[in-house]
Amino acid sequence: MTDLHRLSIRELTEGLANAKFSARELTEHYLKRIEKIDAQVNAYVTVTAEQALAQADAADALRQAGGAGVLTGVPIAHKDIFCTQGIKTTAGSKMLDNFISPYDATVVAKGKTAGLVTLGKVNMDEFAMGSTSESSYFGATKNPWALDRVPGGSSGGSAAVVAADLAPFATGTDTGGSIRQPASFCGLTGLKPTYGRVSRFGMIAYASSLDQGGPMARSAEDCAYLMNVMAGHDAKDSTSVEKDVDDYVANLNGTSLKGLRIGIPKQYFNVAGLAADVKARVEESLKKLAEMGAILVEVDLNMTEAYVPTYYLIAPAEASSNLSRYDGVRYGYRCEDPKDILDLYKRSRSEGFGAEVQRRILIGTYALSAGYYDAYYVKAQKVRRLIQQDFLKAFESVDVIAAPSAPTTAYRIGANLSPVEMYLGDIYTIAVNLAGLPAINAPVGFDKDNLPVGLQLIGNYWSESQLLSVVHQYQQATDWHTKRAAIAEENA
Ligand code: GLN
Repeated sequence: MTDLHRLSIRELTEGLANAKFSARELTEHYLKRIEKIDAQVNAYVTVTAEQALAQADAADALRQAGGAGVLTGVPIAHKDIFCTQGIKTTAGSKMLDNFISPYDATVVAKGKTAGLVTLGKVNMDEFAMGSTSESSYFGATKNPWALDRVPGGSSGGSAAVVAADLAPFATGTDTGGSIRQPASFCGLTGLKPTYGRVSRFGMIAYASSLDQGGPMARSAEDCAYLMNVMAGHDAKDSTSVEKDVDDYVANLNGTSLKGLRIGIPKQYFNVAGLAADVKARVEESLKKLAEMGAILVEVDLNMTEAYVPTYYLIAPAEASSNLSRYDGVRYGYRCEDPKDILDLYKRSRSEGFGAEVQRRILIGTYALSAGYYDAYYVKAQKVRRLIQQDFLKAFESVDVIAAPSAPTTAYRIGANLSPVEMYLGDIYTIAVNLAGLPAINAPVGFDKDNLPVGLQLIGNYWSESQLLSVVHQYQQATDWHTKRAAIAEENA
């Protein structure tokens, strides 16, 4: 078969179950595509062909023996922030260029238990800091819809492999939009779960109180399959929550759109940088949801102006603490011929980290230093609480809140936005992380340059099933999620 890459996850599970194709054929098909097409998008940092074929053979054997699960033999790509035993995990950094983890992240281990076949590890902004994937030590990943554009970030490689049909779905992480924004830029569906729903064990830390893993795929249905694998309590992550998981696939039609109250935050649609095409596509998608029975209600989110300064204080503060472990001593990059211990620290860190990571470490260290801690960090934590309360108040009168995922479509590679310009692009996503809420991106059309536009739906705590269900029903009634970039149409 030449078109296995066009099949949805459900179709893949059915094809494998009915022996229309084997896990080996499917894996070989994807590996061939990667070999032919990936050089154009630069999405894979590591392709694990040999291991993938061994996993595929094991999956086929298990199926023969009657022991297969639903997803046994389905391929996946992992963001290179999830530790993989025996395979290097770089976090997009020179610092970890040669790092081979001695253990699997819980998300990776759960994938293996479910029988998923790992195709490889995919590119990202260095330590997940960025919105374009350009800060990777391994070079910029390109947007499959337009190769001179960024795929978004930090999970840009995850988005690019799915949009170019180089993996049927992928894991991503979202500290401040890094699942939703690249999903938006690449025309995909991506879910950032409630903080604590997915284990962070073995997921290289950026800002621990904000980091959360989640699925990136073509549709809500495909995401639901991956959520069924990823979600759940993990004793190895003390912030993972002991709460039953839903069957996200079974619940895909579980939420009625009739009477569903969708909040439209006034403040969000008057943001200065909001592109006209993005606004128009998002409004059209909301009109469609209203035709399907939803009720649009205006809500107030008064703290909107505080989002960017609050996030860009808290995230770097946590990053500066988390990244102190990369000292050139225990593991990671070490400079040549250090004079003494101080020289070792200084040069290992200044040679091993890129500019954006160093900028965040500097900001974060400053904000946490004695004398400034109360004025910056403590104050930001207080504002963070107000942002959360703002959402909770809105959820008293609505079921979900709608927003764009990003104010623009994909930037040009090398656009060289100033840090502040880039940070402002995170306005719609970061408050969700500060509040710990779940949110989803769904593709809802294109701008005048044929670049994808995304709608974001934000839910109350633990409402992942509801978000997936709303988007699933929208996707049953529309076909934006079925559109493919030209490169995805290329055959290997
Ligand atoms: N653009 C955000 C940042 O640079 C997104 C980070 C993320 O979600 N990992 O912090």
